[in-house]
Amino acid sequence: MKLPRINRYIPKDTPVIKGMILRGLCDYEEKAIYINPKQSDKERLITACHESTHYLFPSLTEKKVEEYGCLIGEVLWRLGYRSRIRKKRKS
Ligand SMILES: [Zn+2]
Repeated sequence: MKLPRINRYIPKDTPVIKGMILRGLCDYEEKAIYINPKQSDKERLITACHESTHYLFPSLTEKKVEEYGCLIGEVLWRLGYRSRIRKKRKS
């Protein structure tokens, strides 16, 4: 299977439910996943696992994707995987 294109933003034209923060998005047609950068390192890792699970298993229910994404993300986090991307410091 081809690796999805990984984007570190959410498209501006993405419809969102009022008051809901969109952490990530999987676009099957574009073969792309989007990760909202405005999350903690751990949240971004779990979101990346969640959206990757959507990408790999499009017929899974949201409940199962949530369960698997959280589990994989938590395992990777406990193994010490961290982002090398650092937020810019405000000067
Ligand atoms: Zn989802």
